[in-house]
Amino acid sequence: MNSNEHVKQEVAPATRLESLLVDLQNKGLRTEGLTKGGRRGGAGPTDDQAFLLEGQAVMIPTLNGPAEHSPYSLAQGPSGLLLQYEGKSLPFTFIEAVRRPKFYELSTKDGIPYHKIAVLHGADVLASTVIQNCIRWAPDKRCKFCAIGHSLEQGSTIAKKKPEHLAEVVKAAEELDGIKHITLTTGTPNETDRGALYLAECVRSIRQVSQLPIHVQCEPPDDDSLYQVLKDAGANSIGLHVESFDEEVRQKVMPSKSQISLEVYFQAFEKAVAVFGRNQVSTYVIIGLGEDLEKTLEGCRRAAKLGVYPFVVPLRPLRGTELENVSPPSSELMLEVYRRVAAILQEENLSSANSSAGCAKCGACSALSLFEKLG
Ligand code: SF4
Repeated sequence: MNSNEHVKQEVAPATRLESLLVDLQNKGLRTEGLTKGGRRGGAGPTDDQAFLLEGQAVMIPTLNGPAEHSPYSLAQGPSGLLLQYEGKSLPFTFIEAVRRPKFYELSTKDGIPYHKIAVLHGADVLASTVIQNCIRWAPDKRCKFCAIGHSLEQGSTIAKKKPEHLAEVVKAAEELDGIKHITLTTGTPNETDRGALYLAECVRSIRQVSQLPIHVQCEPPDDDSLYQVLKDAGANSIGLHVESFDEEVRQKVMPSKSQISLEVYFQAFEKAVAVFGRNQVSTYVIIGLGEDLEKTLEGCRRAAKLGVYPFVVPLRPLRGTELENVSPPSSELMLEVYRRVAAILQEENLSSANSSAGCAKCGACSALSLFEKLG
């Protein structure tokens, strides 16, 4: 069964926090000009903004197509923001925009604004795409969901972050804004180390100034010894992002990246877990690309058995990507996926809480960690 065809029916406005979050992350939110900021372009889920929903850090789409027509909106209440559904306030729902971090006001000595080097994700994660270029960015090669080239085109970032600049920004963000962990990702600069060596250089530089947990993300490098190089540099966890466990979908949606087969990913998972340990390796699994639901769950189960945390996220149809006009998966489908993946995590004794750093730890782009807590 194709998971996009799975359920067309809309869910009613949710009352429980986890259902509400699922619906918000799919439908997005109209901010009505009441919040500033938001992130457009870049690697990973974007066109969104960080909020605290009942105290939980969450990323909610505010800048993509679905958000423009979302039934959810913000209104100004007497003592803060009110979350509304079709114009009616949802009672007892506390929502607050994560404040703009203080380090955004600073620049390097040579005049590069810190926010072009790294940005705040969720409430306490510092994230940077250390190499913004990707060998797969040609129009016929790029992953159809990805917007990594757009932030460079818009001038909101720089192509390659210097290790010493990253260290400078980490120091400031830790001191001024109390960040708790760091995520370094990269476009794929070559077909060999795939950015791992440059990530290691960046991690080493950050380790001169900070002991915060660091998560790195790249494609599986050709040389397995690079996992140890990254670990020795000071990385605590790694993300090897398969994106989908349905090989047909991978070939359709990722014409170039799918040359790295699922089997290569599973071998890479084993190698990476041998170095970083169980629960310290994760993989992004995007739901809503037309994938088969059972193949997806089987892939999550196989990865989890190896000690890999399958970080399931709903497709974000991002502006400027080929999937811009595709509908996100239904909230009902996401509820089912979250429930079933949370059960797999429980069986394999994996959790967001036990991840040391990165997307699995932060969890703000997914509702999975809330479902883990349901037990
Ligand atoms: S889950 Fe990952 S991409 Fe999303 S906000 Fe957290 S660190 Fe950033």
